Amino acid sequence: MTAAYDPQNIFAKILRGEIPAHRVYEDAHTLAFMDVMPQGEGHTLVIPKAPARGLLDASPESLAAVAATVQRVARAVKTAFAADGLTVFQYNEPAGGQTVFHLHVHILPRFDGVALGRHTGGMADGAVLADHAARVRAALDAG
Ligand code: 5GP
Repeated sequence: MTAAYDPQNIFAKILRGEIPAHRVYEDAHTLAFMDVMPQGEGHTLVIPKAPARGLLDASPESLAAVAATVQRVARAVKTAFAADGLTVFQYNEPAGGQTVFHLHVHILPRFDGVALGRHTGGMADGAVLADHAARVRAALDAG
């Protein structure tokens, strides 16, 4: 049986503003911010505001909102980093690779010939993440 949603998970704390994040986009139903241990330059996460542990317990409405934000942010990320492609993925439960138990979708800009970095590897420099977030926000603003 799947565990219950824990409102003390780190992304719930980001949503409540209890811990900081390099935010790039927010609307009524979703939030996007930079991954603090990026698997590559521009690694961005999209989460629903409604509590959900993963894909299976989210409402269809919340998933639809997440999908729309993923597309919007993915376009901006691709532009901001002049990427050749994108990798988008989402993990469910420890067996599926999930480490933070609030539904999230990973967006990674990809470059020809460059391998994906390690999942939850090293912490990125805060100034670098701030710069990357500003680049994504600028691309979003440019539409
Ligand atoms: P999962 O393994 O659950 O799919 O991915 C969780 C992701 O959240 C990882 O890529 C990890 O680097 C990222 N992450 C973990 N803690 C934090 C945090 O406090 N802030 C941010 N921005 N990302 C985090």
